Amino acid sequence: MSESSIFTRILEGEIPSEIIAETENVFAIRDIAPQAPVHLLVIPKDAQYRNVVELAGGDPALLTEMIGLAGTLAAEHGDGDFRLIFNTGAGAGQTVFHVHAHVLSGGLEEGRLGG
Ligand code: AMP
Repeated sequence: MSESSIFTRILEGEIPSEIIAETENVFAIRDIAPQAPVHLLVIPKDAQYRNVVELAGGDPALLTEMIGLAGTLAAEHGDGDFRLIFNTGAGAGQTVFHVHAHVLSGGLEEGRLGG
């Protein structure tokens, strides 16, 4: 058995972090090192998918549920506009290999992607 991910340990209360939203399958926390005024992480409770490509192939309904919660939280915690980021692979900056979506909202006009 591999060690539990940091997110599983948060979900199980082993590491302190406020769970700001929770459904049967998904939960959300604030990122400990925010990159925007609102920076949340939306995470499936099931840790089996290491990244969004595995998740999309294995359980697309769960990915859809994550995106729905991201939208709800962006409206509750920000102005409803948000950037959704799935770092995929160490070379892209992924450090936790338990799939999670970064939800960034507020102050994103500067440095936007796509020119
Ligand atoms: P990634 O680099 O895409 O794998 O994202 C992992 C994210 O988890 C980073 O943005 C970290 O700041 C965040 N993180 C790590 N530990 C914690 C923690 N204990 N509570 C909240 N966020 C965390």
